[in-house]
Amino acid sequence: MKLDILVLAVHPDDAELGCSGTIAKHIAMGKKVGIVDFTRGELGTRGSAEIRDLEAADSAKILGLHARENLRFKDGFFANDEAHKIAVIKMIRKYQPEIILTNALHDRHPDHGRAGDLANDACFLSGLSKISTNIEGQEQEAWRPRLILQYIQDRYIEPDIIVDITPYIQTKIDSIKAFKTQFFNPDHEEAETYISSPEFFDSVIGRAREFGKSIGTTYGEGFTCRKLLGVNDLFNLS
Ligand SMILES: [Zn+2]
Repeated sequence: MKLDILVLAVHPDDAELGCSGTIAKHIAMGKKVGIVDFTRGELGTRGSAEIRDLEAADSAKILGLHARENLRFKDGFFANDEAHKIAVIKMIRKYQPEIILTNALHDRHPDHGRAGDLANDACFLSGLSKISTNIEGQEQEAWRPRLILQYIQDRYIEPDIIVDITPYIQTKIDSIKAFKTQFFNPDHEEAETYISSPEFFDSVIGRAREFGKSIGTTYGEGFTCRKLLGVNDLFNLS
């Protein structure tokens, strides 16, 4: 299935924290959007890989995703090497997205930056026809997405572009809360972590509020881009 937007995220819940409002907005506009998670987040202090699989499936339903897959890379220890690049290239060629959204290039969690670099490298290499890949016995065609944006997740980064997600803030909150073991949930009994405190959840909403305020709306999600962004129609800018 061809997707319009493919989100590449190293941990299940990164996409929700970073860009679920943008995902929900584009699905409402009729675009096809999917997520490929790189790991099952098995090193997370709370929950387990199996529970996070179920949570990711719940969130996919909330967002109305057209696809969600997990590459089962090793949480914390995957490398930006040939084998991992080929695995990501296969997903890019399988879904042929116009736009990729991926992890921030610098963040608190070291996996995020490594995944952002891996995604960027794979997007470029995916366009080279001499790199041969196949999936389920079928040779794949070269495919290079035309735009890669990094969502801003934990550390504050000055965005290059902000998407107004005001009508979709509740969908964003619901998709994050689908990860019941990870975020603030007074009914959950495991030890509190950095991301399970009420203050962390407030900071996610506060960040969306600040980005929204910066563009004159209520809620927004910020993205960075390695290349300069162009626009054909000035009236598409706000
Ligand atoms: Zn993460």
